[in-house]
Amino acid sequence: MYDLLVQRADVLQIANGVPSVLPQHDIAITDRRIVAIAPDISPGLARETLAADGLLAIPGLINSHSHTAMSLFRGVAEDVPIEEWFNGIIWPLETNLTPEDVYWGTLLGLAEMIEAGVTCVADHYFAMDAIVQAVQESGMRALLAWTIFSGADEHEQLSQARQFVEQWHGAEADRIRVWMGPHSPYTCTPSLLRRVAQTARELGVGIHIHLSETAAQVAQSLATHGCSPVSVARNAGLFDVPALAAHVAHVSPEDIATLAAHGVAVAVTPKTEMKLGIGVAPTLAMREAGVTVALGSDGAASNNTYDILESARLLALLEKLRQSDARCMPIGTTLELATGAGARALQWDGIGVLQVGARADLALVQCATAHTQPLHNPAAALLYSSQAADVDTVIVDGRILMHRRTLLTIDKPRVLREVAARIERLTQRQGERRIATYPEAQASR
Ligand SMILES: [Zn+2]
Repeated sequence: MYDLLVQRADVLQIANGVPSVLPQHDIAITDRRIVAIAPDISPGLARETLAADGLLAIPGLINSHSHTAMSLFRGVAEDVPIEEWFNGIIWPLETNLTPEDVYWGTLLGLAEMIEAGVTCVADHYFAMDAIVQAVQESGMRALLAWTIFSGADEHEQLSQARQFVEQWHGAEADRIRVWMGPHSPYTCTPSLLRRVAQTARELGVGIHIHLSETAAQVAQSLATHGCSPVSVARNAGLFDVPALAAHVAHVSPEDIATLAAHGVAVAVTPKTEMKLGIGVAPTLAMREAGVTVALGSDGAASNNTYDILESARLLALLEKLRQSDARCMPIGTTLELATGAGARALQWDGIGVLQVGARADLALVQCATAHTQPLHNPAAALLYSSQAADVDTVIVDGRILMHRRTLLTIDKPRVLREVAARIERLTQRQGERRIATYPEAQASR
């Protein structure tokens, strides 16, 4: 007996960067996994059926780098350079956050992700006890990392992050995983990075970190450490465990070779990087060198959405423009960054694909819209024409989280009320308090 039978969907599969569609197929799900994809499976074999006529079934999208609770700060820091974004606005305002604020902000972000067909997120933030509660309730799949900064309390931060791994890694039948999350080489000393790497090795988990975001960070690293941020991370042992590096916009050919040699995956967040004007990772060069490149949103204070298809579209357009080559970043390759490559970046087998044996994480997307018809090429419609609001139904680990645009696990009206009630307090500056200090301002003081 199947737990759930999705009926008559057009099933999008991507193999080696080549998309194909199985028309009018049924998807049978049992024990959180896809157990059959075939036409005309008998509905009598299933406890529950879900009609998907006219819908495109796609692998659930993977958001490989996010600070989901930053949905609370969407729109507060616009048209400012990165130093002012951090030091003038975001890091001061983040000192206002209580765990309860983080919980509601995360639920808001998760609601938006589910509505956009995202089924898995790599989240990097603090107050992770509140975040894991939101993830549990939402039914979302997540790779969580508790952010660590250097400072007087770094020992406490490290032991808190260790306890968080021990308590939650593999929870909810392996729907929740936990890695270590040092913030970056510019906010963590090499000795702290070494201790984080050692802890990750002991716990058997990976590391999720911000790396080489701006030219100024590279210059500062060369001046302070005599080598690039990528080398600082490697020398600290961060790449001796599974590693996911976000942004990585400013890298030399030697840096790219280092990332490739150590199997370090890169999460590109093109909308944030374009918006802050800091540069976007050399995606094609990294892929050619064998680096796994995946797509992230970053936080909503810089993105300002958790729409991963939008990020995929922006990256493809940017690379075509940057290379003056319409043939680069073809549709299948680009969609792969948001699905299969995301799974590889998170080192999470069995997600990011729609095939028998995979975890049942998928979205059903409406294709009968004016902006996607006529449907000459479903993959092109998905990447270049669709909108997040076209996502009709979302399933994670075999559980329906949204059906016909109605969220089933998140009380959205309540979330919107809770967030609205917090905004005035959250946007007040509290003297000189801030979470950390962005280094360019430090250097100029
Ligand atoms: Zn980030």
